[in-house]
Amino acid sequence: MSKVMKCMCEECHYNRNHECHADSIEVRSSGDKKVESSDGTCCHTFRPKERRHGGCC
Ligand code: SF4
Repeated sequence: MSKVMKCMCEECHYNRNHECHADSIEVRSSGDKKVESSDGTCCHTFRPKERRHGGCC
């Protein structure tokens, strides 16, 4: 299983110093369901640090 080496989503609850501390993550296509680049993917495990609606980082 892969390990998340670096994540720049500092707004995520699981992010500490650019390291992911979630047990596992789920990545899905973002938006139009057509993935042709990394911009078309999104971490679905993302959880905001503050109470507000989640979403892609
Ligand atoms: S859960 Fe996703 S967005 Fe949050 S730190 Fe881990 S890889 Fe980044």
